[in-house]
Amino acid sequence: MRAWYLAAACLAACAHLLLLLPAAGQEARVSYQGAQLLRLAVLSEEDRRLVEALEGDGDVQIWSGLHQNGSEVDALALPGSAERVKELLESSNVTYSVVIEDLEDAIRSENPVPSEEEMQELEGRKGHRMTWYSYHRMAEVHGYLEYLAQTYPKLCSVQAIGTSGQGRPLKVLKISSGKPNSRAIWVDGGIHAREWISPAVVTYIINELVENYESHSDAVQAVDWYILPIVNPDGYEYTHTTNRLWRKNRRSNADSRCMGVDLNRNFGYKWGGKGSSRDPCTEIYAGQYGFSEPETSAISGFLTPKIGTVKAYVTFHSYGQYFLYPWGYDRVLPPDYKELDRVARKATQAMQAAGSYYTAGSSATTLYPASGGSDDWAKGVAKVKYAYTIELRDKGRYGFILPANYIIPTAKEGLAAIKIIAQEVARLK
Ligand SMILES: [Zn+2]
Repeated sequence: MRAWYLAAACLAACAHLLLLLPAAGQEARVSYQGAQLLRLAVLSEEDRRLVEALEGDGDVQIWSGLHQNGSEVDALALPGSAERVKELLESSNVTYSVVIEDLEDAIRSENPVPSEEEMQELEGRKGHRMTWYSYHRMAEVHGYLEYLAQTYPKLCSVQAIGTSGQGRPLKVLKISSGKPNSRAIWVDGGIHAREWISPAVVTYIINELVENYESHSDAVQAVDWYILPIVNPDGYEYTHTTNRLWRKNRRSNADSRCMGVDLNRNFGYKWGGKGSSRDPCTEIYAGQYGFSEPETSAISGFLTPKIGTVKAYVTFHSYGQYFLYPWGYDRVLPPDYKELDRVARKATQAMQAAGSYYTAGSSATTLYPASGGSDDWAKGVAKVKYAYTIELRDKGRYGFILPANYIIPTAKEGLAAIKIIAQEVARLK
């Protein structure tokens, strides 16, 4: 009786409050209103320490550049901190420019999502909801893979190679002309949740290989393709619903208030070394041990029995426009680096012809050491000849918030690269 009375009273009095609260179990969306993307000229050790201190105090989020040798650093001044950060930079004589005036505005205009009606119309016409005019949710990406498997059963099949921490399937599309004993190429995207251009480019490549088969029949005939567009579906969905800038997976870390493991520091080769962290509150937390995460262990479980047949491992990230090969764990090179470099240069030439310039080089020397990366594991343990990390567009104008109208031009570059790699795999002795 009393409980009923309280509930009724609250229904009346708290109705306005309830409207402000998100649905049960759902977190409120993180707003980046007032956040500004700054490009800093970090010229001295002193400048570097200042930026690190700002990061440590939670005033800025580093997007790129701080650990490289170069002097350009992209830093997001977080909501409420932008004015103070800029004053501090000015008083310390660190020059900067404001690249994005208000990140929330940029997020709002980044992805014009079609209406439900338009989506239904599209689905009725094409049999799926996929386009390359906007960024899609996981369900639409997975629905598209299922559609391809049903429509092209001789060419495509879908397999869940595992499930994420929160139980989402890790769906791999296999594209194969059916030739026995074919060599294979692995392609993945979306290991870092906020890098939306990556799954978009990977699904574009899938679409070209399958629905535009005639134009790429050499690439499809020559090798089997295993393609995982969203390695980190929990993080990816979270960037759509709650925090656009989330990077890691969504693991609850024991004894820590901070969630998530950086899946690209969690692979089991030289795990836990340079450029990774044991602190769950950092963006580069490597996890408790190599392959502690279901998303990374699913990949190693799937590829390990295929050692010897998988000749290329291509993983798409953003941003910066780099074409990177091992090693990432330190500034050393694998014995066959000249061959990796030759193919990287050939691929970046094709990418430039398709649209943009990409810098080719080894990960650690071109960017900075980062251990536990997927490409290092592919090269070092899975014995994959051509292991590459491709950092897609752009070079910092939009960073992670690349507007959806850049998907197709960026994807054409990704496709050009992958076709070169397929050619080289086909040619291997
Ligand atoms: Zn990334």
